[in-house]
Amino acid sequence: MTATQTEQFTVQPFTVRRSSGSPDIAGVLPPAGHFINGSFVPGSTGLLIDVVDPTTEAVIASVQAGTADDVDVAVAAAVVAQKTWGATTPKERADVLNLIANIIEENREAFQVIESANTGKPQAVSEDDVSSTIDTFRFMAGASRTLTSMAGGDYATDHTSVILREPVGVVGVITPWNYPLLMAAWKIAPILAAGNSIVIKPSEQTPLSTLKLVEVLAGRIPDGILNVVTGRGRTVGQRLSEHPDIALVALTGSVVSGQAVAETAAKSVKRVHLELGGKAPVVVFPDADLRAAAAGVRNAGFWNAGQDCGAACRVLVHESVAEEFTEHLIREVSTLAIGAPDAGDDVEIGPMISLPHYERVKESLAEARAAGLNIALGGSALEGPGYFIEPTVISNVPAGAHIATHEIFGPVVTVETFSSTEEAVTRANESPYGLSASVWTRDSSLSLRIPKQLDFGTVWVNAHLVLACEVPWGGFKGSGYGRDLSLYALDDYSRTKHVMINHGA
Ligand code: NAD
Repeated sequence: MTATQTEQFTVQPFTVRRSSGSPDIAGVLPPAGHFINGSFVPGSTGLLIDVVDPTTEAVIASVQAGTADDVDVAVAAAVVAQKTWGATTPKERADVLNLIANIIEENREAFQVIESANTGKPQAVSEDDVSSTIDTFRFMAGASRTLTSMAGGDYATDHTSVILREPVGVVGVITPWNYPLLMAAWKIAPILAAGNSIVIKPSEQTPLSTLKLVEVLAGRIPDGILNVVTGRGRTVGQRLSEHPDIALVALTGSVVSGQAVAETAAKSVKRVHLELGGKAPVVVFPDADLRAAAAGVRNAGFWNAGQDCGAACRVLVHESVAEEFTEHLIREVSTLAIGAPDAGDDVEIGPMISLPHYERVKESLAEARAAGLNIALGGSALEGPGYFIEPTVISNVPAGAHIATHEIFGPVVTVETFSSTEEAVTRANESPYGLSASVWTRDSSLSLRIPKQLDFGTVWVNAHLVLACEVPWGGFKGSGYGRDLSLYALDDYSRTKHVMINHGA
């Protein structure tokens, strides 16, 4: 690779910073069994799944390849535990959630090491994930004590109505590999807060932080309220979706997995909560602060190496400022530091999660090249070991190009142009996904009007990928339904019951 000369600055070739030694995770690895009713237990078959460090390509652990029988044992424990847990007061549950937050805080270092080793995340991303995980438990502890429902009253003569809010029962949870601990927390915290018990299946690629969580919680929270069965989607995930004693199944993952879960769950008329893929448009109007927009895309398009369902990956910029914006963007992205998690605090981009995913991202880049698109920066894989891809900017992308509509889930940002506000809105909405979008403008009228016209569950103005526990996260259209975070998640994981008392003579 050679340096690329643009009109005003020189782009240095991307290289991967390596650490001096391999990360020492042996001392912090959790046990490899399933976690059922407060203890680690072996799987029913003894078959194992290898867990790979995507930075080194080395196998760092093996976990149980769970079966439907393993799920059944875990669900039976969860059914029993839920009866007691569901009868506790909000204060008692809040105390347990605060305790969970404190225990994670006490073990912060171990969680960060495990998460970075299993996903290749830079330290800064793992630190942020663990901090957000702690905050999620603390928020849900407080929020659970504020839950109310419609006031009771007399709506029929001589009859008084009371509205009760109840847990749904046992909830099956299926999580993805991109934020293994944080996505687990987004489910576990509100589900427990609402009085349910859980059987969770982490991604078969990244089970270690979820197993670590239950290892450090064992004996300190009631047995059976939080059970883990490791394994694959088509076995463990499938059984969670069909099990008659599971009242609701919540999945964060791809559209295809969401469809499979919803289809299976329909047979037992199970409630379903789906957080699926995204392809977030970033709409840059001509009056925007272009430097700020480019810096925003540098952060939000490449955070977690772009393996983020809300990643700022599809820029739509007004044609009058496209050239200037793209120049700022290339300058910004060209400074990203790539490397192993322990190669320095300033590393910003790690590898793709796995060999198959790395191959998929490379295929998307090859397809863009074959279609004659302008790869303005990056565009290639980096030398191994590890599944590293160069931060990539593809500019002058024509309307409707495949690269700008399908989820790549890697460090790749595309830039398209528009010529009118109406076209910007239409094109942004021309997506099978509806998770998140951003609008960049200094015009106060546009900043109110455009978000209302965009079909996405979150719309930022002059920001992207800023999250807070108080506000809901979730999508429209192909991005699924149900809300994570906020009081809306507590709503999703509880049910209302109407009790009507006849007190007439
Ligand atoms: P994935 O769908 O491959 O896997 C997610 C989970 O579903 C895994 O635990 C997997 O084992 C399980 N699974 C797969 N097939 C299943 C089936 N048939 N039945 C039951 N479970 C099954 O997704 P991934 O590759 O781990 O994660 C990336 C995807 O997740 C991306 O599409 C991304 O956009 C999405 N995601 C969405 C959000 C959000 O909040 N909307 C957050 C993170 C990731």
